[in-house]
Amino acid sequence: MGRRKKIVEQCERLMDKPEQIRNIAIAAHVDHGKTTLTDNLLAGAGMIADQGEATQLMMDTEEDEQERGITIDAANVSMTHEYEGEDHLINLIDTPGHVDFGGDVTRAMRAVDGALVVVDAVEGAMPQTETVVRQALREGVKPTLFINKVDRLISELQEGPEEMQRRLLNVIDDVNELIRGMTEDMDDVDDWTVSVEDGTVGFGSALYKWGVSMPSMQATGMDFGDIMELERNDNRQELHEKTPLSDVILDMVCEHFPDPIEAQPRRIPRVWRGDDDSELAEQMRLVDPDGEVVLMVTDIGIDPHAGEISAGRVFSGTLEKGQDLYISGTVGTNRVQSVGIYMGGEREEVERVPAGNIAAVTGLKDAIAGSTVSSVEMTPFESIEHISEPVITKS
Ligand code: GDP
Repeated sequence: MGRRKKIVEQCERLMDKPEQIRNIAIAAHVDHGKTTLTDNLLAGAGMIADQGEATQLMMDTEEDEQERGITIDAANVSMTHEYEGEDHLINLIDTPGHVDFGGDVTRAMRAVDGALVVVDAVEGAMPQTETVVRQALREGVKPTLFINKVDRLISELQEGPEEMQRRLLNVIDDVNELIRGMTEDMDDVDDWTVSVEDGTVGFGSALYKWGVSMPSMQATGMDFGDIMELERNDNRQELHEKTPLSDVILDMVCEHFPDPIEAQPRRIPRVWRGDDDSELAEQMRLVDPDGEVVLMVTDIGIDPHAGEISAGRVFSGTLEKGQDLYISGTVGTNRVQSVGIYMGGEREEVERVPAGNIAAVTGLKDAIAGSTVSSVEMTPFESIEHISEPVITKS
């Protein structure tokens, strides 16, 4: 069996186990390293080879595909990761890095439950960092933090341990200030600030593929001194092998981001103003695969063969081919032609996509980004508000 097929089968097996699903986005100010980090995660999950430059990894001949895994255009992708002896299905939604796409970032946030915020250690939190944190929190999406480009502090800026620590703590403080400002009036969130101690902050280098967090340091026995020495002496390959970034981040995702069962009861009241006491509300809170089908479309893509593809989050029920579904704001129903999941830029058809997952559906010709698609007529989800970007002045 081909590698791609194996990965799809593995994902399909996990789709029915919401406790083992994490729907996540990676969000960052432009150039802080989102693309480089995403490549690390895909390589770590066995989706692309762990070598060379990203562009080389994305070559697209049959032979290459067999050798290297699958073709990735860093769009939406599902991958699996073993954590504490259990496989997890991680659905990663791409968020556009450019400042003009604020609306798209917010839409992506509707589909996910966790957002990994990437901040460049040298530049620190920037205006778009603030925007993505705000977008995540408004959607009830939990943040964690990865401070990237730490190699530059060590090798380029030649910072000592204290200077470096001060700088990293400043970044964490800045991000926490944003989080606190956004969550103090939320009665359903205890504390979403991030900290090194509880493992919701990671540091490292996406370029050189190493990373650490408090739990990873405890597991590997490596401390910051060891890391600085290896990085300074250009032993980056050894550093990568001893403490690979993808493991640190994917472990953090599994441990600290909520699964759909934990997330949906909190998120539904935030994004849906329908009757709280209805059966439908209960089905969405419970992530009920046997309930009515409820899909929120967050993105429309075009496939040269299949036409329009609606991608979005299934909040209740199970999507299947042949279903006739209502589309909010339109009359009548559309028939589902196919359902699938995203493997890189490509869609992979599957039999069914149950609640708690991200689906790619064809046949919903009346749907647009933001549509509520359902097997019964219902109050649509709240429209996805665009948060305007602050003016960026890059130093
Ligand atoms: P994005 O705009 O957030 O997707 O950022 P990219 O992943 O494209 O990275 C922007 C630039 O920063 C590229 O030139 C990367 O090679 C570089 N970069 C990314 N991560 C690191 C890192 O950990 N260390 C260093 N030194 N450079 C990095």
